[in-house]
Order: sequence, then C-alpha cells, then structure tokens
Amino acid sequence: MPSTSAAQAPTNPQFVSGKWSPSTSEETLDVFNPATGEVISRTPLARVEEVDAAVAAAKAAFPSWRKVPPPERARYLFRYRDLLVRYSDDIARITSREHGKTVADAKGSLQRGIEVVEFACGIPTLMMGECLEDVSAGIDTRSIRQPLGVCVGVTPFNFPVMIPLWMFPLALACGNTFVLKPSEKVPQSAIRLVELLHEAGIPEGVINVVHGATPQVEQLIDHPDVRAVSIVGSSEAAAAVYARAAAQGKRVQALGGAKNHLVVMPDADLDLATEAIIASAFGSTGQRCMAGSVVDAVGSVGDELVERLRRRAASLRLGPGDDETTEMGPLVNRAQRDRAAGYIDLGLEEGAKLVLDGRKEIAREGFFLGPTLLDEVKPGSRVSRDEIFGPVLSVIRPKNLDEALELVNASPKGNGAVIFTRDAGTIRRFCMEVEAGMIGVNVGVPAPMAFFPFAGWKGSFFGDLHTTGKDGVRFYTEQKVITSRV
Ligand code: NAD
Repeated sequence: MPSTSAAQAPTNPQFVSGKWSPSTSEETLDVFNPATGEVISRTPLARVEEVDAAVAAAKAAFPSWRKVPPPERARYLFRYRDLLVRYSDDIARITSREHGKTVADAKGSLQRGIEVVEFACGIPTLMMGECLEDVSAGIDTRSIRQPLGVCVGVTPFNFPVMIPLWMFPLALACGNTFVLKPSEKVPQSAIRLVELLHEAGIPEGVINVVHGATPQVEQLIDHPDVRAVSIVGSSEAAAAVYARAAAQGKRVQALGGAKNHLVVMPDADLDLATEAIIASAFGSTGQRCMAGSVVDAVGSVGDELVERLRRRAASLRLGPGDDETTEMGPLVNRAQRDRAAGYIDLGLEEGAKLVLDGRKEIAREGFFLGPTLLDEVKPGSRVSRDEIFGPVLSVIRPKNLDEALELVNASPKGNGAVIFTRDAGTIRRFCMEVEAGMIGVNVGVPAPMAFFPFAGWKGSFFGDLHTTGKDGVRFYTEQKVITSRV
C-alpha cells in the first residue's frame, strides 16, 4: 500500500436513498492505520442538510418497507448473511487496518455480528404477538408488534462491525428504517457493511449512513422524524444521549463504558484462569467493553497468580493486526494510547507496584503500548475505578469473597463481572450478589450471544430494553392490543 499524505487520503462517502455520495462538508477528521500512524481516510462532519436528507430518505422508505411481509424481510437478511460470510476476510482486513486489532480478532467479532443477522432471520416468529379467545363472552383480544419508523444507531470505535450489526439488522427485520452514524474513528468497516446490504437488494432509503460526531448525533436525536436512538459508547456519551432523547419522549437504549472485575478464588483452576484473564485484559489491546480491567486476587492466590500473569503477558507478541503472528495490536490512535499510558504513571503515583511495564513499546512506530500489570492497586484509587480502555491490568488483593464482592459492587460501572472458582456455593453467592449485567463463571469474556440481551447495569447502561435478543425486538417495536367482538 503506497503511503498517502493526510491531504490525499480519501474522504468517506455517505449513503442516502440507496446512493453513495461525497459529503460537501469541508470539516473532516483523520482516520489512521494505528500500526503505522499513517492517515488512511477522512471522516466528513456532515452538514445539517445532509443529516436531514438521511432522515428524510429513511422516513420516505418506511411506509413501503413496513408493508414488506416479515418472511420477505427475513429473506433480505438471509442474502445479507451469505454476503457477510463470503466477504468476511475482506471485512476483517478493513477493520484491522483502521482499528488495529488482529485480523483473527476482527473475524471473531464479525462472526458475533453475523449471529445477530441470523437471529434477525427468525423475525416472523420473534415478532409474533399473543391472542386470547373469549376474554369476555364473544370477545377476543390479541396483541401485535409494529415497527416504530425511523431509528438511529450511533456506534463506538472498538467494534467497528459487530456493534452496527447489533442494531440495524434487527431494526430492519422489525420493519423500521435506519440511519447509522458510525464511529468517526473507524468509518470504513461500517461502509463495507452497508455496501453489502445494498448488494443484498435492500430497497433505497431503508438504510442510510451519515458521518460526524456529537453535533450530528444531537441533530439526529432532535429530529422530529426520529423515533428511537441506540447508542453504544463511553458512559459520558451514553448518559448525554439518553438524557437528550428521553427528554423528548423518544425511545432510547444507551450502552456505556465499563470497569470489569475478575475475581480469582484460592480454589480456582489457575491454568484456566490465567489464560482467560490474559485474553480478557489484553485481547483487542484492552479496548473492549467486556475487557477484564481489575483482578481481585483473593487470599492466598495472589503471589502465584500475579507471577503467572506477568510471565504470560510478557510473552504476548505485539505487531500490526495483519501479521498472522501478532497477538496484540496497537491502540486505535495516539490520544487513546497516551491516555492509557498516563494511567500507568497515575497508578505509580497512587502507590501501585509495577510488575510489567508496557511503556517501552511507545518508541515503536504507530500507537503501541505493551501489556502492563500493576499489583497492590489501592481500592478506591483512580486506576481501580476509571475505565482505562487499554492494555493495563490492575491487581487488588482482597482477603476473602466478602471483600471482593464489596470491591466489585463499589464500582460506579457494572457491565461485566467474572469469578474463577470450583465451589458451587461461591458461584451461587457471586451470581446472586454481584451488581453487573453480564456475569462470567470460569469464563473471561462473558459476552452474551445474539439470542440473549446484551447490556450492563449502573453507569454502564441507561435505558430499559437491552440490545439484541428478545429485548432487541421489543426495543424496535411498539405493542398494540386489539379487542374485538366478531
Ligand atoms: P465515544 O463515547 O467517544 O463515542 C461513541 C459514539 O458516540 C461515536 O459515534 C461518537 O461520535 C458519539 N458521541 C461521542 N460523544 C457524544 C455525545 N456527547 N453526544 C452524542 N454522541 C456522542 O466512545 P468510543 O471511544 O468510540 O468507544 C469506546 C467506549 O465505548 C468505551 O467507553 C467502551 O466501554 C464503550 N463501549 C461499550 C459497550 C457496551 O456494550 N456497553 C460496547 C462497546 C464499547
């Protein structure tokens, strides 16, 4: 690939009414190849008229799309699913290039997205309502589910393919039309997804893409023709979008940031726990909402666990995502890398012990930071509380399960929480008392698959209906109850 200067990098197109076109906005943001630092494309910040045009296209397409029978809507998705599978290598390479994650990791997360499309193919069954004969003499009642209209999706950088696929396949299957505002940091993956949906024959206006950042999202939320908003992002963005949309009476699901704890009990299988923690903390360079960020090493397990983690983390091979031998890629951009590295300095100021220092990798070209392990992190310190979103793993040493539960539940966030133990009573108590939405038992990344709902608790989620699973269908439909005497 010849190197391009920032000025030569192509500006990503928008998709409105079934056509790709350049934005006429002069404001753009750079998109990088994080392995080299090179600018590979630019994201336009759509003009007000362009955002309006995308919503108008979705509104115009809605009356006929909602009348396409659900089995036929599912057939578009069957075709789409086959295209996603056929072009999975191509999609994974695009994601790896603009995000930095390994191609294998990108393919794995695409697979999670494809499973949502497969789930959405069951829409004729999923959208069924209920019926009761003779609620009163000669009177029957039935409930039906109807689409809402124009729905909006706002997605983060860390899963450039999977998270858009959490949203639009199910929204469309339910008969809605959609405007996607992809992450400004990784727009090309979402563009490829929509190109393939177009190839699957989806009618014009049913899916639209506009680019931008906060002002464009705010305009979409405020637009009178937008009925529902899904956002996945930092807790700050999720809270802001939730408040703005809810204040206007709109339906909103807002998934925020995380600070996931992994509790390791003294009776845990340490071979299993070590591998699972390494994959959870350093997979995708720690840039996952389900990434393990704090290990609570309970009682006597601490010294041996920390030594095992140090050895395994130090052995991880860093490199560009498209090199098959790479186990950990770079962070998405310089700001994200510097922010994560800053937390290592802060951890030391707060009294933690540096067991493995990833900062030596900063000297490489691109936005690398090596795996880092901080031990004896103080409960309540900022490294123990803030979402770092990078390859920095903290270890806290609670004395027993009571103390571990107290630490996990003190977190303002509650996306995931994990326990490693062989004891059934401990597992039961942890599952019952821990305050988080997605729980792992001897599993490092307890991300639910497409047919279950996905979301956290507390500052990790604002809303009611989670994304995907039956909650996803409920979110994208309105119920109507019909009582009839015939
Ligand atoms: P981000 O919050 O910077 O951006 C996410 C999206 O929201 C982008 O499309 C952005 O343009 C938009 N946005 C940002 N601020 C906004 C605002 N104030 N108002 C309206 N829109 C706004 O997040 P990011 O850095 O792209 O992604 C990483 C974050 O996403 C992490 O905090 C991670 O934990 C979180 N995340 C959560 C989940 C989950 O399931 N809970 C999944 C993936 C990522």
